[in-house]
Parts: sequence; structure tokens; C-alpha cells
Amino acid sequence: MHFLPESLESYITVNSENEPDILSELTRETHLKVIQPRMITGHYQGRVLSMLSKLIQPSSILEIGTYTGYSAICLAEGLTNDGLLHTIDINEELLEIQRKYFRQSGFGDKIIQHTGDALKIIPELDQVFDLVFIDAEKKMYDAYFEEVIEKTRPGSIILTDNVLWSGKVVEPLDKKDMVTPNLLAYNKKLKNDPRVETVILSIRDGLTLCRVL
Ligand code: SAH
Ligand code: CA
Repeated sequence: MHFLPESLESYITVNSENEPDILSELTRETHLKVIQPRMITGHYQGRVLSMLSKLIQPSSILEIGTYTGYSAICLAEGLTNDGLLHTIDINEELLEIQRKYFRQSGFGDKIIQHTGDALKIIPELDQVFDLVFIDAEKKMYDAYFEEVIEKTRPGSIILTDNVLWSGKVVEPLDKKDMVTPNLLAYNKKLKNDPRVETVILSIRDGLTLCRVL
């Protein structure tokens, strides 16, 4: 869904950084070969993630929900020289395309792929993350957040994607909708959570930026 008129959205994109060729190629291959290609981070949001990561200069990043690796590559662009990005996805069929593009992007040695349920894998990661990107199963956002906040320090940034859920967060609730109520509760919780400072950015499908206190 477009929150802004398409003409304005395209103006913003055209006047922001270009999409690196490797990411255009990844988008093309994702549309050809992988189901649900609309889940992929696009040109504009990708450049926003890259810029945020470059501002934060993280030495450790955790991504929950790799899909074909687009957002991982954008976030890796901001890593320090010795930095590493850990990314988790439950779908092992995606490993090959992820690896191919991680290698081609030049971040092959900096991105560590984990396959399995994020809720099982996060507790096994024995380290502190400077930057976290939550983008897997929407119903589990709260559970992911509780696991990852244990692995942060004051000043760490936790990003959460798709928090406006195509605008459904302000529409009358459909009784069969099992996702929106979870996102409503999650957004409210972050606003009131004394452990973090929170702003929602109306970028694409909504991106929450939390700073750990
Ligand atoms: N961050 C990606 C898009 C992620 S789409 C990008 O911007 O390009 C969401 C991904 O979460 C899917 O690939 C799905 O396989 C994964 N996922 C769903 N449930 C999961 C779970 N329990 N643990 C880890 N990954 C999960
Ligand atoms: Ca997303």
C-alpha cells in the first residue's frame, strides 16, 4: 500500500540514493524464483536502512527475517570494518539465494546466516547487538522484542518493520484478522515501555525506531 500519492513516493525515491545494481538484480531474481516477493525491502526503504546503519556504525547487527537477503545487505553497508551481521530465517530454501547475493555484494564474510525459529536461535547468540532489525513473523514481534532486548546495551537501536500493516492499524478490525491486533498491542507497548524511547517512521509500511535506555 502507498501511504503517499505514488507521484510523491516516486519523487522521493528518485531524489534519494540510487539502488545498488546488485540489489536491483536480487529484486529481479526474487520476483522470478521466490514466493511472496512483495515481502522484499525495496529501493527507498533499503537506502533508509543503509543510511541508518551508516549513522549508527554498528559492530554487531542482528536481523530477524532474512528472506532473500535484501535488507541484510543494506544494513551490512554500515558495519564497522571488523563488524558482523547475524541474520535468522526459518526457511532453509532461501539459504542458497541469500549466500549468492551476500557473496556478490562483498559482505559474504561479514554476514552469518542462521536457519531455524528465531525464538530458539536468539537465546543461543551470546553477544550484545548495537542494531537489531525485526522483520519475521508479525504475530511474534513482542516475543522477538523481549528476547532481543536482553542482547542490547543502552544506546542500541531496535528497528521493527511493517508496524502500520498497510494502514490496518487505524481501520475497523476484521474478526478474522489474526495479525493486526498483535501489531496494535505491540505498537502500544513500545510507546509505553520504559526500557526504550520510540518513534514510528511512516516509511513504506511503517518502521519503528527504538533506542534502548
Ligand atoms: N527482511 C527481509 C524480508 C523478511 S520477510 C527483507 O526486507 O528483504 C519475513 C521472513 O521471516 C520470511 O523469509 C520468513 O521465512 C521468516 N520467518 C517467519 N517466521 C520465522 C521464524 N519463526 N523465525 C525466523 N524467521 C521467520
Ligand atoms: Ca518487512
